[in-house]
Amino acid sequence: MSLAPFIAGLPKAELHVHHVGSASPRIVSELAARHPDAGVPSDLERLREFFTFRDFAHFIEVYLAVVDLVRTPEDVRLLTYEVAREMAQGQNLRYAELTCTPYTSVVRGIAIEAYTEAIEDARVAAERDFGIVLQWIYDIPGESGIPAADATLAYALEHRTDALVGFGLGGPEIGVPRAQFEPHFSTARASGLRSVPHAGETTGPETIWESVRLLGAERIGHGCSAAQDPELLAHLAEAGVVLEVCPTSNVATRAVDRIEDHPLRTFVEAGVTVTINSDDPPMFATTLNNDYDVAASLLDLDERGVADLARAAVDASFAPAEVKARISAEIEAYAADAGRAHGRPTP
Ligand SMILES: [Zn+2]
Repeated sequence: MSLAPFIAGLPKAELHVHHVGSASPRIVSELAARHPDAGVPSDLERLREFFTFRDFAHFIEVYLAVVDLVRTPEDVRLLTYEVAREMAQGQNLRYAELTCTPYTSVVRGIAIEAYTEAIEDARVAAERDFGIVLQWIYDIPGESGIPAADATLAYALEHRTDALVGFGLGGPEIGVPRAQFEPHFSTARASGLRSVPHAGETTGPETIWESVRLLGAERIGHGCSAAQDPELLAHLAEAGVVLEVCPTSNVATRAVDRIEDHPLRTFVEAGVTVTINSDDPPMFATTLNNDYDVAASLLDLDERGVADLARAAVDASFAPAEVKARISAEIEAYAADAGRAHGRPTP
């Protein structure tokens, strides 16, 4: 029996999903119509074709085209609000920690004050209109080095909003050693932000070790290469470091050759807590619902097992306690209803 209908109706939380990378063809069409000089088609059919995932180079092309369309604070507000709409209405998300890269907007001329106001305005409106709670993770675009790290830390400290909960590190891993960002993470953590760097997506387990030891990572974005190092897996399990697994993204970027080779099961068997995420869903031709479906088949899960994955994301989130309790209760009620519908005895 397909789990897709159960997954679609399951209330969920997502912890690893990028702001600009979540722009769907529909949202990009609106932005493209505002900025015709950018040369991005606003026709939805042509955009869908442009978005069709071909390879990693094409993903970068699409990503940069979207980055270039976000030019004003109003664009940031629209993007954020519409992404939240699609999360709530399309994926049944109740809560998301959206990874934002304010640096790329500020270098394009949006002042950090206006950027912050735009995302906050969208957050409040999205919670009111769609019932989804959003919080922010600011990530350092690693390829831009120390200047970007300095700037991102300053945005986080000097333009703090209550909804900013995490400090991250994205972009390429090769040639971007984690150690150089130790002071930034140390200051961010001292100010109460949680450490959530990407690591082990395109490099080996040593990057994950560095992220845990030097950056104080509480959750790791991807962490694929942890599967190569049993000692590291034992450490992650023991220390309660959570992996934000993005199965479809990992195949799209060739972090993993084929979905059948994905190390998700290895993580679970080692006792590591995993959460399921979609990363840059429209650009990798996926959705969070699809990634749950992929995870369910990799792990041979039934409905109860899928509900447990959803619970794990809530537990590993930085949501306020009352939000966690509310979503967990919703997940349990939904799973119990589905169980009754299948005539299973209820406890
Ligand atoms: Zn990511």
